Amino acid sequence: MAKGDVLLSLKDVVKQFPIKGGVFLRTVDSVKAVNGVSLEVREGETFGLVGESGCGKTTLGSVILGLEKPTSGQVIFDGQDVNAVSGAQKRKLHQQMQIVFQDPFESLNPRMTVEEIVGEGLRIQGGYTRSEIHARVLEMLERVGLNPEHARRYPHEFSGGQRQRIGIARALIVNPRFVVCDEPVSALDVSVQAQIINLLRDLQKKYGYTYLFVAHGLNVVRYMSDRVAVMYLGRIVELADTDSLFKNPLHPYTRALLSAIPDIDSGEDVFSAVLSGDVPSPVHLPSGCPFHPRCSQCMDICRKQMPEEHIVDGTRVRCHLYDGDKA
Ligand code: SF4
Repeated sequence: MAKGDVLLSLKDVVKQFPIKGGVFLRTVDSVKAVNGVSLEVREGETFGLVGESGCGKTTLGSVILGLEKPTSGQVIFDGQDVNAVSGAQKRKLHQQMQIVFQDPFESLNPRMTVEEIVGEGLRIQGGYTRSEIHARVLEMLERVGLNPEHARRYPHEFSGGQRQRIGIARALIVNPRFVVCDEPVSALDVSVQAQIINLLRDLQKKYGYTYLFVAHGLNVVRYMSDRVAVMYLGRIVELADTDSLFKNPLHPYTRALLSAIPDIDSGEDVFSAVLSGDVPSPVHLPSGCPFHPRCSQCMDICRKQMPEEHIVDGTRVRCHLYDGDKA
C-alpha cells in the first residue's frame, strides 16, 4: 500500500450502549454515542478527531480498534472488516492497530517494570526469545528518548512526560501501521506537551505510522494533523484539510470551537462566535440538528430536520446553512 491510499474506512458506524431498567432489567433506552460516522484515513497521514468531552470520539476510537463492537456499520482496515475476522487473522490485524492512552499515570501497571510493560506486546504475540524481547525493549526505549537503565525501573519513578514515552514505546514495539493517539498530551504539563507531540511527529516521519489523533482542543490538532474531523454528539459535522478548516471553518460549531483559540499575531479571537450551554445528553438527542439548542445561527428548519452532508469547496459539512450548495 502506498502513502495516501485508504488504510482505514468507516462506513456508517453506529454505537449505542443500552440502558437497563425496571425489575426485569429490560433495555429502556440507550446512549447514542456514535451516530453514523463515515470517514477514511489514508496511509501515512495524521487524521485529527476533535470535539468536546462526551461527543463520542473516544468511543469511536474503541470501535475502530475492535475494543467495542459497532451496533451497526463497518470498520474496514487494510481491506478487512475488523469485526468479521477471528483467530490468528484477528490477532494479526490487532497487532497492526495500537493505542497511546490519555493518562500515562493510569495506563501503566505500577507493579510491572518498564521492561515488562514495553515488552508485553511481543510476549503476547509470541515467537520471541527473552533476549530478543530484551533487545527490542532497549531499542524502543532509545527511540522514544529513554535510557537502557530505565528498563529496570517502575512507573512511579518517572515524570508524566517519561511515562507517556513508555506508553508510546509499548504501543510501537509490535510494529503497528496505525496508532490511535487518544488525547496523548492532555494529562501532561504544558511544558512537556510539545516534547511528546514532536516525538510522535518524528517517529511518524521515520517509520511511516498512520495516526488517528483524538483531542478536545483544536490547537494541538492543528499542529499534528493533515486533515481534521469535528465531531458533535456522535456525528462528524465538518471534515476538511487542516488549512481549510482553520482558514475557512464552515460549521457554526467549528467556528465556536475556534473562537476559543486566540489569534497569535493580534492576540484577539479569530471568531466572535460564542458556544453557550453544555453538550446535550446523548440519551435524549435534540430533534433536527443536534447542535440547534446551542447554535447562534439556528433557523426554523434546524429544529425539525436533520441536515444532510454537503461538500463545499472540498469540505464535508453537515448544516442547513449550505442547503443551497449541494454537491
Ligand atoms: Fe446551526 Fe442549523 Fe447549521 Fe445546525 S443546521 S449548525 S442549528 S445553522
